[in-house]
Amino acid sequence: MSTTIIEKLKKEIATLENESTSEEVGVVSAVFDGIAEIDGLRGAEMMEMLSFETADGKPLTDAIENAGALFGLVLNLEEDSVKAVVLGESYRVKEGMRVTKTGKLLSVPVGEGIVGRVVNTLGEPIDGRGAIETDTSMPIERVAYGVMDRSSVNEPIHTGIKAIDSMIPIGRGQRELIIGDRGTGKTTVAIDTIINQKNEPKDKRPICIYVAIGQKRSKTASLMAKLEAAGAMEYTTIVATSASEASPLLFLAPFAGAAIGEYFMQKGRDVLVVFDDLSKHAVAYRQMSLLLRRPPGREAYPGDIFYLHSRLLERSAKLSKELGGGSLTALPIIETQEGDISAYIPTNVISITDGQIFLEGDLFNKGIRPAINVGNSVSRVGSSAQTKAMKKVSGKIKLELAQFRELEAFMQFSSDLDAETKTRIDNGRKYVELLKQDQNAPVPFYEQAVSIYAANQGLYNGTTPENVREIEAGFVAFIKRDRKEIFSQIEDSRELSDDVIAALDTAIVDFKDAHSKYYGS
Ligand code: ATP
Ligand code: MG
Repeated sequence: MSTTIIEKLKKEIATLENESTSEEVGVVSAVFDGIAEIDGLRGAEMMEMLSFETADGKPLTDAIENAGALFGLVLNLEEDSVKAVVLGESYRVKEGMRVTKTGKLLSVPVGEGIVGRVVNTLGEPIDGRGAIETDTSMPIERVAYGVMDRSSVNEPIHTGIKAIDSMIPIGRGQRELIIGDRGTGKTTVAIDTIINQKNEPKDKRPICIYVAIGQKRSKTASLMAKLEAAGAMEYTTIVATSASEASPLLFLAPFAGAAIGEYFMQKGRDVLVVFDDLSKHAVAYRQMSLLLRRPPGREAYPGDIFYLHSRLLERSAKLSKELGGGSLTALPIIETQEGDISAYIPTNVISITDGQIFLEGDLFNKGIRPAINVGNSVSRVGSSAQTKAMKKVSGKIKLELAQFRELEAFMQFSSDLDAETKTRIDNGRKYVELLKQDQNAPVPFYEQAVSIYAANQGLYNGTTPENVREIEAGFVAFIKRDRKEIFSQIEDSRELSDDVIAALDTAIVDFKDAHSKYYGS
């Protein structure tokens, strides 16, 4: 062969190589566990969407109903290749396929129509109720708002759970962690909070977004049924990922939830987002990082897991007036092992949030439900957002319960207690009873205020702790029936005016007179 022919062939090979490893185009060199390794694509950016194409350059379409082309997401930039996760049916991606840059960072399509729907990580409907009309798309990752764009938290988000709204109040724009072992009622606290938004006037009712991270499909379905039955799906979106999905999709789910929330927040609305849960999220991230061959750190989690969670939670905000005054409140959930909050992920998330609600297996098993450990739970910013009505009644209950906790420890050692100590313990027990609540029965704040006020004013004096729940139900029903202006006045003014207090004091006396059966001794 003459040298000219060899030269020509060499040139041809070089141009071919160049094409396949250019800036814009790449070729799949391997696919494993939902991750594609792609040669070339030197111009790709982190979190950029890539489009998988058939050999003749046509976009590969995803077989999932309503879904468009099959996309990938760049997660590792290496010297002459990139690693991308396949967002969809990864088995359809084959070695040798062409991949092109889209120039767009990953985003979710959103519009008003997403409310009331169940979507996957990519914002695609999975509830079989047809396409969602969208008007824009929101980037899944974004830089959080700076200090100047924010205003201080000044309005409460009512959970409808007495122990929380009175003593661990949450403000709109706050991040409050719900933490506890398996099966201690974490999800229930979050779901009841969503259900309780039904009790808010329409103009104050937040849009709720529940992000299920790696949960069983059946669990998500029953949760949706619960919300639907309570009429709460009207203002709720569920972002659902199941345990059977690829880890990158679980990893992206809370970011998608936050992005959907930001769409509404930017319109000046209040938004509540539940991340259920970030423990599973951390595990998915660990799994994904191992697949991407990133170096593992403490407890084998990648070193940037803290940064990941702080980036996510930093997106909750109360925006300034100039930016419309919207807010995004986050309720992340963390599962602990045997109450160990000093493990890596729990300590991380505790330090990122503005407070935490501790749920305890011991309390749960003793029948104290919701199993909130009031002594250890805190809300660092919420009390400034509490309504005047709740503020007025919460001081005494806090104090009584704190004293009760001290005495309870002491009680185990001494048998004969003086009369005053006995009364204290008795009062403490009554408050504990008062704070017990059935699931899916959130109480509007004005009812809570009345109920706690009555307890503070001695509605339970002369009766036993066993009677507390029955008397409370009777008293609330009595107000609802015969003195309903008390409720409406508190609801409207959000405080306990002198008039309301006088009316309540009379109501307590009247109720006690009519129900002497409870007050035997
Ligand atoms: P997991 O760790 O499995 O996610 P979880 O901590 O989210 O559990 P839930 O699923 O909310 O806990 O609740 C566990 C069980 O306790 C459920 O069967 C629920 O119905 C019940 N439960 C929760 N709260 C209450 C309550 N206030 N009163 C009675 N039962 C409750
Ligand atoms: Mg749960």
